[in-house]
Amino acid sequence: MQLQLLWKLQELDLSISDLQSKIEEAPGLSGVHEAKEYLENLEDDFSEKADQLKSDRKQLKQMELEEQTIVEHINELKDSMYGGKVTSVKELEQMQRKVDLLAGDRVKLEDKMLNLMESIESLESELNDIEKQINQAREDLNKKEKQLQDKLSDLNQDLEEMQARRGELAGKIDQKYLDKYQSLAEKHQGKALARVVDDICGGCRVFISSAHRGHLYNPSAMVYCENCGRLLVKLD
Ligand SMILES: [Zn+2]
Repeated sequence: MQLQLLWKLQELDLSISDLQSKIEEAPGLSGVHEAKEYLENLEDDFSEKADQLKSDRKQLKQMELEEQTIVEHINELKDSMYGGKVTSVKELEQMQRKVDLLAGDRVKLEDKMLNLMESIESLESELNDIEKQINQAREDLNKKEKQLQDKLSDLNQDLEEMQARRGELAGKIDQKYLDKYQSLAEKHQGKALARVVDDICGGCRVFISSAHRGHLYNPSAMVYCENCGRLLVKLD
């Protein structure tokens, strides 16, 4: 009877160990890590582009001020030229050259501003897209986290139930059997006991000698496989 209980205990322990592996593997299999990484990459991308946009807008404002200064300068020169105060032809020619230079600067500046405005516009649209992707990624991550939590909560509940059953079962088994089981289980990856089916050890598949076999019918005897050392149990 003790051996049968011990066999049940081993089956339960193997199931518990399976369940513990599932609990350990669940986060890795849930996709939460990947979803988090994906979201973080999007957020990094967003903040990088948002910084770029901020700096582009600042630069555009500076250029607008710069242009205003050029225009003011041109107007001042024209006022002087056409105001009648300056009469020297040479001086007028010099002023005209200056106006032309400033007008050239203004055209160049306006080209740059146009490029910058295009870049700002495309950044704004990119940021808009990334924001949508971030919202979706966040939703996906939340969903995966929730699924993982639900799964872990189910698995942990099963584990608790199994451990309670194990405690109950172990309470019915003599300590000397439990001790033997424990030390054999460590040696055989949790499989301390082997079933005997058709006179073959279920642990190592080796035939059990007839001399040895006889002991299996003594329910209180502890019989070990001569080949692998596992405790043999014959189930009905
Ligand atoms: Zn064996």
